[in-house]
Parts: sequence; structure tokens; C-alpha cells
Amino acid sequence: MAFDQHGRTIDYLRISVTDRCNLRCRYCMPEEGVSWKSHDSMLSLEEIAEFVRIASGEGFKRIRLTGGEPLVRLGIADLVAAIDAVPGIESVAMTTNGILLPKMAEQLKAAGLSRVNISLDTLDAEQFRYISRWGNIEDVFAGIDAALAVGFKPVKINAVVVRSLHQDLLAFARLSITRPLHVRFIEYMPVGDICGGEGLGWTEADTIPNEELIALVNAQAEAAGLGSLEPITERAETPDGWGPARYYHFRNAQGTIGFISALSRHFCGECNRLRLTAEGMLLPCLFSDTQFDVKTALRSGSPGDVRQVLQEALQSKPDEHHHRVGTERLMHEIGG
Ligand code: SAM
Ligand code: SF4
Repeated sequence: MAFDQHGRTIDYLRISVTDRCNLRCRYCMPEEGVSWKSHDSMLSLEEIAEFVRIASGEGFKRIRLTGGEPLVRLGIADLVAAIDAVPGIESVAMTTNGILLPKMAEQLKAAGLSRVNISLDTLDAEQFRYISRWGNIEDVFAGIDAALAVGFKPVKINAVVVRSLHQDLLAFARLSITRPLHVRFIEYMPVGDICGGEGLGWTEADTIPNEELIALVNAQAEAAGLGSLEPITERAETPDGWGPARYYHFRNAQGTIGFISALSRHFCGECNRLRLTAEGMLLPCLFSDTQFDVKTALRSGSPGDVRQVLQEALQSKPDEHHHRVGTERLMHEIGG
């Protein structure tokens, strides 16, 4: 088992496999002018798999692939299969925008992917196009259908809530009732320079704290005759998860609604993860630029060096983010 210096068990690794993406969500990535990492500067698929083998030896059990958009990385299904074959790895998951799932879901399932989180911040086609700049919502809907059809379990929908967007929360409430989908509302995080005002105009005032959001969903649901959210207290009834969401459901719903609050009710005490960037840097905390160079250690060919870097990253995990929210990186470089 891997522990950090604060006694937390750290067994969950989020791996960003690319900084590239087929969308340009406003809170995540600028529309133009991104300088892509060169092929050489990114970890190869073999290097990522080797890192997972070493991390598994140190107690890591659960892997999530993210990006950028993980499905645009060539050979992604082979990587899933390689990771799934590592002794000690219990589950391989992915966070994706879903657009390529209709083409790839079956192949990914066969390779050993067990669960997906699909990011979708609105159920309105026009608003989706605005947020993602390029996207067609029908592609994401088809991705959700494909994920359910091949049997990923659970299928979660990640919706970042931004106050000034006035998203239709009731539409998500209805979705959780009619389909076996687990909607998670995520507090918007003003991370990276792009979110400091440039280009977006969104600020910390756009983060709706969880308690306020729960009250908003309840008010709208009650007015629409859906009843109100009931907290799920039995762990067995929550969608099997590794994260810090608090779950609720509407009576007789097929799915659930979760609330994830990195800022207003930060969950640092339950933090169980390290992040690996596409360039091979280990990040102990989402909200800090402190990083540890795994790529050089991997390329030195010494597993002992890699283990040492991993342990250094683990031992430098902060106890909490102390409301420091900014980092120099943008979300598509961190992986969410
Ligand atoms: N492209 C994939 C996707 O969109 O699911 C994976 C990478 S994306 C960076 C991972 C997650 O981070 C997504 O759910 C996205 O909505 C979320 N995210 C990106 N920028 C964010 C921000 N500023 N605040 C909160 N969540 C953010
Ligand atoms: Fe791409 Fe995901 Fe960022 Fe949107 S949130 S730009 S889909 S990486």
C-alpha cells in the first residue's frame, strides 16, 4: 500500500495520455495558439505502461486515462490492454468527451476498460457548441449510447457548472431519472491563465458552491413535480466510485446525481491520487505546480530511480490546497 506523509492511502493514478483534443472547451483550452508538445517530449505508450507496472508494485490499484482527449491518442486501446494486464491493477477507467466512443467503445471494452466518465456540461445543442466551440452534441449522445450498449459500468456524466452559463439543471435531473446514468455536477475551477479572465471572462464568482447548487436543483425539481433529491447514505447504493462526490437520487430514478466540490468543500482529507502528465511529470496536487520528473527516470532505464521519484511525489503531497486555486497549467495539460 502507498501512503503519503499525512497517512492517506494513495492508490489511484490519473494519467494524461495527450494534451491534444478534438474540442476546445472554453474553461479548459484556448481556441488557437496552443503549442503542442513534441512527440518526443511525451511519454510513449510503452513508457506509460512501464510506469504503471512500477506504480502497481508501490500499491497503486486504479488507473484513469484522461487528457486532452484520451481517444485521440493513437494506440489507446493497446495501452488499456497493457495496463489491464499489469498484476495488481484492479480497474482501468477513462474520462472522455465521448465523441469517438461510437467508433471505439467495443474495442476499448475488449481491451479491458471497465468504466467511463463522459464530460457533457449541457444538454442543449447550441449551448454545447458554444462551450466546446466545435462540438456537435449528437456525437456525445451517440457516445453515451455506445458506452451503455457495450456495458461500461458505471457510466458517469461530468457536468462542469458555471454560474453565468445558466445551464438547465432540470434537464440533467430528468436524465438521471430516465437512464442509468450518474450525473456529477462539478464546481467550475478557475485553473490556469486562461481562467484568470483572458478569453473567458469567467472568474471565481462563476463557481457555484455545492450547497447552493443542491438547493437550486431541489427548487427546480420540486417546481417541476420531480420531488427532491434524497441523499444516498449506503455506500453499496452509490455508483461504484473512487472519487469525492456526494451522491443523491430522485425516487425511482435509474441513475444518481453527484456533487463534486474541489473548492467550496474541499476533499483534500480524502485525496487518494497522483496525476501523471503526458510529458511524464508527476503532480502531487491539482492546485499546485510542484512536479516530479518521471520521464527522465524512466528513460534512464532504472526502475529504482522511478520508484524514488514516485515516493518523493507521494511524500510531498500537501495536506490541503489552502484555497490556492491557480496553477500555470491549463486543464487539458493536467487531465482534470
Ligand atoms: N477530454 C476529456 C474530457 O473532457 O472528459 C478528458 C480531459 S478533461 C481536462 C477532464 C475533465 O476536466 C472534464 O470533465 C472537464 O470538464 C474537466 N475540466 C476541464 N476544465 C475544468 C475547469 N476549469 N473546472 C472544472 N473542471 C474542468
Ligand atoms: Fe478537450 Fe476535455 Fe478540455 Fe473539453 S474539457 S477541451 S474535451 S480536454
